[in-house]
Amino acid sequence: MEARTGRVAVIGSLNMDLVVRAPRLPQPGETLAGTAFDQVPGGKGANQAVAAARLGAQVGMLGRLGQDANGTQLLQAMQDEGIDCSRIGRDATHPTGVALIVVDDASQNTIVIIAGSNGALDTAAVEAHADLIAQADVVVCQLEVPEATVLAALRRAHALGRTVILNPAPVTGPLPQGWLENVDFLVPNEVEAAALSGVAVDSPDSARRAARVLQQQGARHVLITLGGQGVFLLPPADAAGNKGIDDDTRGTHYPARRVAAVDTTAAGDTFIGGFAAALAAGRPLDEAVRFGQAAAALSVTRAGAQPSIPYFSEIQPDAP
Ligand code: ATP
Repeated sequence: MEARTGRVAVIGSLNMDLVVRAPRLPQPGETLAGTAFDQVPGGKGANQAVAAARLGAQVGMLGRLGQDANGTQLLQAMQDEGIDCSRIGRDATHPTGVALIVVDDASQNTIVIIAGSNGALDTAAVEAHADLIAQADVVVCQLEVPEATVLAALRRAHALGRTVILNPAPVTGPLPQGWLENVDFLVPNEVEAAALSGVAVDSPDSARRAARVLQQQGARHVLITLGGQGVFLLPPADAAGNKGIDDDTRGTHYPARRVAAVDTTAAGDTFIGGFAAALAAGRPLDEAVRFGQAAAALSVTRAGAQPSIPYFSEIQPDAP
């Protein structure tokens, strides 16, 4: 794959992550002394846009920042990645989104997100910047901007025949009716897959059961990420080689690469960015999954969210 051969549009969030390290997570009412503080670019939309850009795609993002110092810093960071930021607006009334993250010595974390200007990304923005979607090979959405905005983007992208990826995160229950018919690839992690399907997911077998439920709800391809266990892909029932929706052997488990994991933050975002970039470049589905996994495996060997996302030149898709 030549670098920057496919176009990826991301419609989503940009946050400033305020990361505090502490020996353990505080109890309710407790005040703890922390050991470090970092302020780093984040937000699922921004992370996935950065991943797709580093992993070979031409990326444009639709999002909204505040007119504050956090907004200016995040915009600069995205521009430095070579991302087309011409459709990232600056909101006069809402501050830039922030995520307050506490990480303990066992790498457990708690996260509180203030949507801020992400919550002001409205459907009018999707209409005004529909050219971004029209020009893309692959369109990627998450759920950190308003539902109506995501739905408008999914519908527009589907109507234009773009390949549509939805990372349903964060999510607490099933998606409203009428969403999944616009989605080509639904990519939840174990927790999200369980919330959407009602099936507890902790293995490739349970992922297959959850994916079947999600397909009955209208999803085409379901790709469930399973952390260190890899990815489970359930293709559409009508895909070549399948015996139909009742064939309960359908689907493929792609084990994760064995690596020494240091920090799994943004592994999911890296997988989705890499997968989207590979699909946009016209690579076959199987290769795109493996490429996303290779990138995600590398990201878990490094600390941090965006700093851990690898570049195209670092990926060796065929390594074991
Ligand atoms: P996050 O919220 O931290 O971004 P996530 O929960 O959305 O992550 P995961 O399912 O944890 O996503 O991981 C995404 C992909 O990253 C996995 O499918 C796998 O390919 C890769 N991955 C994650 N953890 C590991 C690991 N320990 N070793 C190798 N690969 C991993």
